[in-house]
Amino acid sequence: MKLGIIGLPNSGKTTLFNALTGLQAETAPYPNPIATEPHVGVIKVPDRRIDRLSTIFQPRKKVYADVICLDITGFARGISTSRQKSGLFNQLWGADAILHVVRAFEDEKVSHPGEGIDPGRDAAALELELIFHDLELVETRLERIATAIKKGIGKEFMAERAVLEKCRSQLEQEKPLRNLDINEAERAAVGSLMFASLKPELVLLNVGEEEIAGARTAARMDALRAYYAGRDALVFALSAKIEMEISRLPAHEAGAFLEDLGITEPAMNRVIREVYELLGLISFFTVGEDEVRAWTIRNGTRAVRAAGKVHSDIERGFIKAEVIGYDDFVAAGTMARAKEKALLRLEGKDYTVQDGDIINFRFNV
Ligand code: GDP
Repeated sequence: MKLGIIGLPNSGKTTLFNALTGLQAETAPYPNPIATEPHVGVIKVPDRRIDRLSTIFQPRKKVYADVICLDITGFARGISTSRQKSGLFNQLWGADAILHVVRAFEDEKVSHPGEGIDPGRDAAALELELIFHDLELVETRLERIATAIKKGIGKEFMAERAVLEKCRSQLEQEKPLRNLDINEAERAAVGSLMFASLKPELVLLNVGEEEIAGARTAARMDALRAYYAGRDALVFALSAKIEMEISRLPAHEAGAFLEDLGITEPAMNRVIREVYELLGLISFFTVGEDEVRAWTIRNGTRAVRAAGKVHSDIERGFIKAEVIGYDDFVAAGTMARAKEKALLRLEGKDYTVQDGDIINFRFNV
């Protein structure tokens, strides 16, 4: 699962990328040129359930779920009409969801591509670049289809054309494809087009560290929420700089630092969980002395497919899944007690795995 970070130059994308991945990619107060490759890192999905299970099982290894993170450099005003756009939108195409960073922090040393700090203006500017890019894709494709139909070979494109026309009408109103009402079949009909505004999006207002709880931030958040309400994107505020600092502290110091700030966990944790949810992902767990581990699956996955995540042999030789929900397990305290209380269920191949299920697969190869 991949998350792509975008934003105007100097909005704090790389700072956020570092906070999310624990890497130390270089941040700079001047606009970076378009990079041909994004920075790539791994985000460990914070999950208190894994921590709790680890205190119970004392495993040799604890493994969180992960999401790949791409820091995509080069989005700027006018990019949708620039010659460099295809390389950039190609990078974005590799992402399943977008994290859009919008600058709200003031810092004279950090240049700003517009005149002064205005998050509403900046957010809309980038949103429009995605929309214009998609509109051009739609129009080019519609022209091709029209030509094919004229030649009498376009019959198979009729369904696609109908969806493209819906898309065009939405984009012409300067609305993203994200919240266009299309069904799975319609979506599949245009699935090969590299739409950017169709991707689920989370917007992050990158606020100055002294302003997180300020009135100006609240007003800006209200404005952004209003703008994105009809565009199907979530909006959060955080300070990328603080998040990066927290991510670099040893765990015990991070705890004290958070306490000083009066918060229980880094804002980043919440953001990552939201991304996970936005992508329709859930976790199930495998537990033991060897390893306590979270596995990522799409919501709605059947037990036999979930088994394949762990190992293809387990999918092939699947017999049953021994399942207990996380809360039931924690209430019981140990596996032995859970068994005594008959809280473990035996489920078959078609069982739909639930978020937080602790599973022991029985298989035979
Ligand atoms: P990018 O161009 O969007 O990737 O932005 P960077 O992450 O490279 O950041 C650009 C500059 O802004 C760097 O000098 C950062 O240190 C600075 N910066 C990023 N976030 C913040 C913030 O929240 N507060 C302040 N004061 N500076 C920040």
